[in-house]
Amino acid sequence: MGRLAFIAMTQEQFPNSELFDKIVNLSKRRGIVYPSAEIYGGFRSTYDYGPVGVLMLRNVKDAWWRSMVQLRHDVVGLDASILGPPAVWEASGHLSNFSDPLVDCKECGARHREDKLEDPNVCPTCGNTGTFTEARQFNLMFKTQAGPVEDTAAVAYLRPETAQGMFINFANVLYTSRKKPPFGIAQIGKSFRNEITPGNFVFRTREFEQMEMEFFVPPAEASEWYSYWCDKRFNWYVEHGMTEANIRLRPHGDDELSHYSSGTSDVEFLFPWGWDELEGIANRGNFDLTQHMEHSGTKLEFFDQAANERYIPHVIEPAAGATRTMMAFLMDAYHEEQVNDDTRVVLKLHPRLAPFKLAVLPLSKKPELIGPATELYEHLAEHWMCDFDQTQAIGKRYRRQDEIGTPYCVTFDFDSLDDNAVTVRDRDTMEQVRLPIAELQAWLSERLP
Ligand code: ATP
Repeated sequence: MGRLAFIAMTQEQFPNSELFDKIVNLSKRRGIVYPSAEIYGGFRSTYDYGPVGVLMLRNVKDAWWRSMVQLRHDVVGLDASILGPPAVWEASGHLSNFSDPLVDCKECGARHREDKLEDPNVCPTCGNTGTFTEARQFNLMFKTQAGPVEDTAAVAYLRPETAQGMFINFANVLYTSRKKPPFGIAQIGKSFRNEITPGNFVFRTREFEQMEMEFFVPPAEASEWYSYWCDKRFNWYVEHGMTEANIRLRPHGDDELSHYSSGTSDVEFLFPWGWDELEGIANRGNFDLTQHMEHSGTKLEFFDQAANERYIPHVIEPAAGATRTMMAFLMDAYHEEQVNDDTRVVLKLHPRLAPFKLAVLPLSKKPELIGPATELYEHLAEHWMCDFDQTQAIGKRYRRQDEIGTPYCVTFDFDSLDDNAVTVRDRDTMEQVRLPIAELQAWLSERLP
């Protein structure tokens, strides 16, 4: 059988707007990501994760949590509140600094983020030159009010990052977890930024999910841990199936560094529009703890009994976007293959990220097959996220599972009633093996997480 992977991403094929459109269409068609509030005409740049997408997004987050918390005795988890008082954001610097330069086009009225313009003089909406207003700093935080009284005391903000939750709980976690530096606090959750130009599907949205970890270290060990986390985080993407040619670690130049950072590197992915950020790993010094210590008056230090010295730990922060990362994995996994006269779309996702690990497919809708196939499904579903599909021809069902990246299809046919065996089809090779049902679970356990 001749097969040709002709749309899998390679660096030579960029920019690749065709791939972008295919991912957006596949997402809508297969219940991965829908535009939000669509029946009301949509709500710009907000998205809902459908029955398949919610599984994949959860898998991305679980894979991160597994690697960052479960497999490490030196990192603990946290789930902090989304709403916070102005004091937190004053101390963190977000109230005064968390802004982007906004320009308006005097010709067409379009608004753009100045630092993201290809040509700072040309409006990408209408093409006119020299029509921009002076740049104004636009704060990206969503401001709201807590409680029924509209006064300044009731002002609250939706967090624009999850990181501050870790800093303001540093002392709590230190005392309750009995950890000492080097140790980390990790969190996954929603963040909100009133982005000037959201876009590129779920790449930049105003509501998104982050996966962040603050790793607190003795000051002298900071640069060593910074290198460690750069490697560790880069490898996480590769271990989860990302094509190495589509991902790189890019150290920031001196002009890009924030004043407190002594090193930042971005993990970047080759998106259809070019290289762009998936995650930032920063050596933040003791900036954050110092700020919160000064503003709150609470000591955020560590007393090292062995050395009899007190210090403010330095922080290494790997900060990734869950929704953005899911989109990158989708794009990286998308393949079209020529199978005889047909084109097969297949998501070659790492099994840990695949929405369903397997699908049970009764060959016919006849009750004598549906009954035992359902029983098999119920047994396997105890162990893995399984799909069950009894509609249409078996070939079509295989293709549907290929499109959402299901590693194995288990077909229950009429022979299964006599030989107590099923056919298992591999997503990537399309090869099929006949396996006794009694051996199926052990066989799958060797291949699936
Ligand atoms: P950008 O330069 O793209 O605005 P950033 O450098 O401000 O991003 P960080 O503050 O470092 O981003 O946030 C960490 C991660 O959170 C980013 O690498 C990205 O994956 C994710 N992220 C940030 N903003 C958004 C957004 N508006 N939509 C989706 N994901 C986001």
